[in-house]
Amino acid sequence: MTIQPQASTPKIRQKTISQQRTLGIIGGMSWESTESYYRLINEGIKAKLGHLHSADLLIHSVDFAPIEALQAKGAWAEMGEMLASSGRRLQAAGAQGLLIATNTMHKVADSVEAATGLPIIHIADATAKAINVKGVMKVALLGTQFTMTQDFYKQRLIDSGLQVVIPEDAARAEVHRVIYDELCQGKLLDNSRQYYQQVIEHLAKQGVEGVILGCTEIGLLIKQADSSITVFDTTAIHAAAAVDFLLGDAKIKLTDY
Ligand code: GLU
Repeated sequence: MTIQPQASTPKIRQKTISQQRTLGIIGGMSWESTESYYRLINEGIKAKLGHLHSADLLIHSVDFAPIEALQAKGAWAEMGEMLASSGRRLQAAGAQGLLIATNTMHKVADSVEAATGLPIIHIADATAKAINVKGVMKVALLGTQFTMTQDFYKQRLIDSGLQVVIPEDAARAEVHRVIYDELCQGKLLDNSRQYYQQVIEHLAKQGVEGVILGCTEIGLLIKQADSSITVFDTTAIHAAAAVDFLLGDAKIKLTDY
């Protein structure tokens, strides 16, 4: 059988030279959400640049088990050193900015910034901006106990003018448990989705206009269709901020060849 040559591609095609910045991602906390970041950032670059473009990324994916053990012990200085070391490795590999792919570990963002001097795309600031753009004033915050109760995250939202409401004790404990026992281990259970929905509806009755999915795995479980109020998925928001960073000062040149 004779194989026919395929129709020839046009002789002159557009060649696009992109000059993205290089972004270093400190990931693996958990890898389930780092996978989402990788896809979302690449989809964002493709949406902006088209064709075969993809994101200029470096990812250092850590082992989450020792991090989780240190979180439980409250050993934040030690974790700050670990993430600072990760940031330095990414910097040595050429990262011009850093993204910490978890809400909780922003508790040590200052240590990473001090160790590298690199700009960090802060997840709480990106989230506050996205909420302010929508004109929402009062929001609920779901995440780990650390994120829901401590100032390193919530205060940045409040400083941006938002009123932040968190679930009561028992609901906070269950939201936290589901994150570590299920979502970070790739388990997406209907019972837990329904529980999160109940928590969100309860908070909605208290007058919140939106809910922050303030843990990078919650977006795997809860989508906008699962909530009667606006959902702010921090993973998607953070990934969009990463795309803006990558394209920051980029000059996209179009030339023929
Ligand atoms: N990825 C989660 C977050 O966004 C929880 C895991 C962690 O503790 O980093 O907070």
